[in-house]
Amino acid sequence: MSLPFRLNRALEKLPVYLPGRPIEEVARELGLDPEGIIKLASNENPLGPSPKAMEAVRKAASAMNIYPDGSAFRLKNKISKKLNLPTHCISFGNGSNELLELIGHAVLQPGDECVMSQYCFAVYPIVTRLFNAEIIMVPAKNYGSDLEAMLKAITPNTRIVFLANPNNPTGTFLSEAELSDFIAKVPEETLIVLDEAYTEYQENPPDFLPLIREGKKTNLVICRTFSKIYGLAGLRIGFSVACPEFTAALDKVREAFNTGSLAQEAALAALDDMEFLEKARRLNAQGLDYLQKEFDGMKLEYVPSAANFVLVKTGNGKRVFEELQRAGIIVRPLANYNLHDWVRITVGTPEQNQRLITALKRVLPALSQS
Ligand SMILES: *Cc1c(COP(=O)(O)O)cnc(C)c1O
Repeated sequence: MSLPFRLNRALEKLPVYLPGRPIEEVARELGLDPEGIIKLASNENPLGPSPKAMEAVRKAASAMNIYPDGSAFRLKNKISKKLNLPTHCISFGNGSNELLELIGHAVLQPGDECVMSQYCFAVYPIVTRLFNAEIIMVPAKNYGSDLEAMLKAITPNTRIVFLANPNNPTGTFLSEAELSDFIAKVPEETLIVLDEAYTEYQENPPDFLPLIREGKKTNLVICRTFSKIYGLAGLRIGFSVACPEFTAALDKVREAFNTGSLAQEAALAALDDMEFLEKARRLNAQGLDYLQKEFDGMKLEYVPSAANFVLVKTGNGKRVFEELQRAGIIVRPLANYNLHDWVRITVGTPEQNQRLITALKRVLPALSQS
């Protein structure tokens, strides 16, 4: 059926985001007990949220008839102190995903170009097309971003260059030296969007905040999230760090109450729970090590990961995804990334990782025989 009115033309060529499948949906479809299903598909924290965040949400629940503080005053001040940044360099989004879109609102006009890498986070091409801008896709190098080629792809029409470090879905990582050099060479007229959704999983992550703190880079915006290591994906909150002028632009285009009060309270509490953060980081490092060693043993190619997931070449990712799903394990097939022979697996608890490996060892030989 066609609509009697015209839709935004951007929708015609808009790529679709394919999320990891929810446990409830898989349970309904396959007649499985949701309790027995594990989701290793969306890079969520297998430890759950920080207990402190849960307590903060319980406390804040009685005030949810009240609109949130649209400026997230207390959370902004906490991050400001923690990261040693002026408050006017920090803005919030309904997940960092929303921040990526707000950046598009603030910057993009039809016909502009955005440079990104093959196998980049699926949201970058979506944001680009949403504003009728053009995607300039630079071929990857060893599944990671080819920074030299990306620099060469930048033209006077390039408004944004998107880069995630570590990258999702490949888990590849760029060193501080490589990225510093890149940031220095990108022309000032092009905004660098550095997406650090997984940065906390590293022991000593590269730190580009000084470039903003010291006012050295006005064309850099760093995005962080509470969805991954902080375990608050369901609450939707992330933040950006940029120069005051660009932060003001983001605040102008965002909805007045774009982050909820429960999300703000949970984020505040999670920032204080260093014990939880350490535990999550340690568990992830061990889990990643276990999975990669098992893949070695199974002679499966994988991309060494710096995040909380790993891309592994199983052959026929769609079938592997389906068979694992039947066994109550949800992983991520990557046909939409043109990685048909791969699946992406989130690092779970030790028990979940073992269950995954056991299932893979059963599923893969059966598939190769059929
Ligand atoms: C998960 C992820 C995000 C975070 O999304 P939220 O909207 O904050 O939940 C951002 N960038 C990348 C690359 C991601 O993988």
